Amino acid sequence: MANWYRPATLEEALSIRAEHPVIPIAGGTDLYVRHRRGNGLPPAIDKPLLSVSHLTELRAVAYHDDHITVGAAVPYSDLLADERVPEILRASIAELAAPALRNAGTLGGNICNASPAADAVCPLYALDAECELRSTTETRMVPIEELITGPGRTSLGEDELLTAIRIPLPSGAGGIHSFYRKVGTRRANALSKLSIAAVARLGEEGEVASAAVALGAVAPTVLRSRETEASIVGTPVAIDAARERILGAYRELVSPIDDQRSSAAYRREVAVNLVRQFLDELAGESHRP
Ligand SMILES: Cc1cc2nc3c(=O)[nH]c(=O)nc-3n(C[C@H](O)[C@H](O)[C@H](O)COP(=O)(O)OP(=O)(O)OC[C@H]3O[C@@H](n4cnc5c(N)ncnc54)[C@H](O)[C@@H]3O)c2cc1C
Repeated sequence: MANWYRPATLEEALSIRAEHPVIPIAGGTDLYVRHRRGNGLPPAIDKPLLSVSHLTELRAVAYHDDHITVGAAVPYSDLLADERVPEILRASIAELAAPALRNAGTLGGNICNASPAADAVCPLYALDAECELRSTTETRMVPIEELITGPGRTSLGEDELLTAIRIPLPSGAGGIHSFYRKVGTRRANALSKLSIAAVARLGEEGEVASAAVALGAVAPTVLRSRETEASIVGTPVAIDAARERILGAYRELVSPIDDQRSSAAYRREVAVNLVRQFLDELAGESHRP
């Protein structure tokens, strides 16, 4: 079993991170699985672990008019119970793993694990979340799309920790329309075959003012296309007219793989169908003239 550091404060944690080759650990629900060796054997981890899950600085949620800031080590169960957390993020958490695991797992771990199928990451893309990264010398804010650089890869520095996630609260003069779907083998403890998180902001007349569509597990990282999203604006009539072109664009944009959970062909087909469902709902939600 690896050695542990259990710092008393974030400052101490950052000093340890700067001075020693350590692996940060929050809930451990990804880390232990990745390093498992088999029944009865402890996980094989070759560096000391730096525990961050108990740090009060990483367990706070701060509320503002237009955004919330969630500490990287706030457990999912707290976020699920908090109605001030955007609905679409809570929808993803409600289908993530199972209740016991949600008491340990964290947004910070989901992000830093950088799986293209990470369920809570998909809504964070749709909401344009930014990540606060800290070292002993610097604090920087990085859009989530720039932090996650590929499957299992991030731009987190060797001396940095993810400390918080800044999540804009979506709003529109005519309200917002959120759409989240996860396709898995079963309802609990199943990783996604694919997922979609989409948010549309409605204007005063009920028209779609802007839309964000994030697709999980259909590309090396969660996929967004601002160019295609720009076509999802206007009245239901305009969206109807653009529908097949938008769906064609997403069919081209996705680059899914075959793996033990699903096939590339299934993922492509279902991803396009889910975008279609979102567009259908939008047309219903907006006021027809
Ligand atoms: C049975 C089971 C079911 C699961 N179901 C799902 C599911 O449905 N959907 C899903 O998306 N995931 C699922 N997972 C995966 C996992 O639970 C989540 O990804 C969870 O969010 C990981 O959080 P954690 O706190 O446990 O991360 P950890 O395992 O502690 O860490 C994960 C990675 O992030 C790094 N890290 C953690 N915190 C920080 C930090 N603050 N700064 C820098 N690096 C950090 C660690 O070094 C490690 O590389 C499941 C796992 C299990 C075991």
